[in-house]
Order: sequence, then structure tokens, then C-alpha cells
Amino acid sequence: MVTMNKNRSKRTVLVAGGAGFVGSHLTDALLARGDRVICVDSFLTGSHANIRPLRNHPGFRLIEADICGLHQIDEPIHQIYNLACAASPPQYQADPVHTMMTCVQGTGNLLALAERHQASFVQASTSEVYGDPVEHPQREDYRGNVNCTGPRACYDEGKRAAEALCFDLLRAGRVDVRVARIFNTYGPRMLPSDGRIISNLLVQAITGEPLTIYGSGEQTRSFCFVSDLVRGLIALMDVPENPQAPVNLGNPGEFTINQLASMVLAMVPTRSEIVYRPLPQDDPQRRRPDISKASELLGWEPRTPLSEGLQQTADWFATALTTTTEDIDMPTRPTPAAVALPLGA
Ligand code: NAD
Ligand code: UDP
Repeated sequence: MVTMNKNRSKRTVLVAGGAGFVGSHLTDALLARGDRVICVDSFLTGSHANIRPLRNHPGFRLIEADICGLHQIDEPIHQIYNLACAASPPQYQADPVHTMMTCVQGTGNLLALAERHQASFVQASTSEVYGDPVEHPQREDYRGNVNCTGPRACYDEGKRAAEALCFDLLRAGRVDVRVARIFNTYGPRMLPSDGRIISNLLVQAITGEPLTIYGSGEQTRSFCFVSDLVRGLIALMDVPENPQAPVNLGNPGEFTINQLASMVLAMVPTRSEIVYRPLPQDDPQRRRPDISKASELLGWEPRTPLSEGLQQTADWFATALTTTTEDIDMPTRPTPAAVALPLGA
């Protein structure tokens, strides 16, 4: 039986992926409003530095675990946010089997936990479910154009399968699950070696390395600042009536990668120049969210213009890159086959 969001004075919220870029900002916001947070993270792409300030917070608990093997939590939980999954193309492609299993088996485990604890659930899905979109901008009812056998499929199809699982359990009345389709999000705490465009360009400019643009640079993306996204995720969890359908969360401002690189060069004093590299296979050409559903159902829209968010992120990287590695965990590439998976056994 689906239990709708409970307005308890003290909620316990499980944030899977809580040591990652978005997850750590979400954890901060939940603790700030008085929730108790259990962060579950394997540190595949997360960072101890992101949660180090919380170590002694009375409302914070860390469980270091892979969600593919997580079957129980020894205390009541009222809400679950599932953000556990590598999100950057080089990171999620480093161990594609594990990415797929994280999306399907890991999400399945968390949904089972939600059912047992009667906890409401927010699934971090992605604009990648639209693939290389033929419809523009992307509305939630667009079914997408994904290459199911290409190098991005472990993530795109994994997230699509996770959505299918979520809606099966919602339809069956077993879990109060809500699905956010998140568009490119950026901000402080992205790992310098994350590999996504904004962290790459800023780190390259700050360190004087060439700015790498893949393809012609005329492909577009829409960039959402992390605090706006976190507000949207919480609004989606808290809205009393379940939307019963996925909700796009993103900033509709659309920029070419060339425009973004020009903004970075104008913002960061640097000797860097632009170099063009081959476009990765199946790289989407255009991306812009239609956010009318989020606006109507959640009263949500982003507030931070790209110029402002980019400046904050540049300032953060400038400090982080000059801090010793003891204070900021420097990036590691994920180790392939991080967990034993029931494949081909
Ligand atoms: P991130 O890589 O910084 O964070 C992911 C976190 O999940 C990391 O802390 C990582 O260690 C953890 N993790 C990965 N696999 C795990 C597993 N099997 N078990 C336990 N922990 C695991 O990425 P992010 O940008 O913070 O993205 C967070 C979520 O939002 C992801 O699910 C991603 O798919 C989704 N999303 C993000 C964006 C974006 O632009 N940031 C866009 C669309 C969707
Ligand atoms: N990109 C680029 N240079 C980089 C990293 C990425 O030109 O150093 C391009 C990438 O090919 C894509 C866009 O920037 O067209 C956004 O890439 P990102 O990895 O940030 O996100 P995604 O492709 O998942 O939207």
C-alpha cells in the first residue's frame, strides 16, 4: 500500500550517493532543515571531502556500501533519494556493467527498502533517457532516441530500466515513487577529473591547459546550478500529490559548447587556448528541458543564471585546486568490477 509523504517533525532520510557532487549538496540542505540523513555511498565517484564537515553532525550517519549489495537498514527510514550512480560519461563508461547493475539491481534494492519502510522515494533519472533527441525542447512525454547498444547505453538504458521499475512499483501501489529527469547540473564539489564539460573547461582554464572541445562545439546543453536542482528534488519529494509521471528538472537556457568555452575564457584569467577533439560516439546534439510540468506541479524553476553559477564554480575550483590533497580528495578513476555481479555465473 502506497504511503504518501509524512510530515514528521524529525524525518530520517536515506541519500544514496550522498558523498557525490549533487548528493552532498542535497545532504547539506536536508540537515539544514532538521532532517536526519543516512548517507549510503561506495565512494566510486564520491569524495570523503564532500562529507568531512558532517562527520560530527549529530543528524548524520555514513554507511559505506554499494547499493547493488544493500538489503537492509537497521533503523526506520521515511524518505529515500537514489542518486547513487556515476554520472559523467568517462566515469560511467569505465565499468559499464557495474553502471547498468547500479541502475537496475541497486535501484531495485533501494525500492525494496522503501517498500519495507513505507518510505517515499525520489529516483534521480536523467535527460539521457531522451538520447540524441529528435524533439526539441524535450517534454516528459517524448520517448527518446537512445542507441541501446552503444557506449552510453549502460547509463541511458540503465536509467530507463530504473524508471520502468519505479513506475511498476508505483502502479502496483507498493512504493510512493517520484522520478526526476535531471538535465546537466554543475557547481562546486564536482571532482576536478569528473570529465564533464564545465569541470573540464574550468580546470583546464585555471591550470593553463588547452580547453578541449569535442566535435564542432556547436552541440548544445542546458546547465542547471546545483542549488536550484537540490530545491527541485526536495520539492518533488515533498509535493503531497504524487505526480504519477516523470518530471524534468533543468535550466532551459541553452548554450553551445563554443559559447560556454568563450564564457570560461572571459571569466578566468588564463593563457589557455581551445583545441578541438573528436566527438564521442552517440553524443547528443541538442538538449533543453521543457520545465512546464515542474513549474505547474512543484512551483519550481531555476533561479541562478549560468554566468553567476559559473563564476561561483570557477571560484570554488580555483581554491580547491590549490588546496592540499589531504583537504580535498583528488579524483580517482573508478576501479572496474567494484562489486561481484551475478552475471554469467
Ligand atoms: P557523482 O558521480 O558525483 O555522484 C554519484 C555518487 O554515487 C558518488 O558519490 C558515487 O560514489 C556514488 N555511487 C555510484 N555508484 C554507486 C553504487 N553502486 N553504490 C553506492 N554508491 C554509488 O554524480 P552526480 O552528478 O552527483 O549525480 C548524482 C545523480 O544524479 C546520479 O544518479 C546521476 O545519474 C543523476 N544525474 C546527474 C546529472 C548531473 O548533471 N549532475 C544529470 C542527470 C542525472
Ligand atoms: N565536451 C567537450 N569537452 C569536454 C567534455 C565534454 O566538448 O572536455 C562535450 C561533450 O562531447 C558533450 C557536452 O560537452 O557534447 C556535454 O558533455 P558532458 O560530459 O558534460 O555531459 P553529457 O554529454 O552527458 O550531456
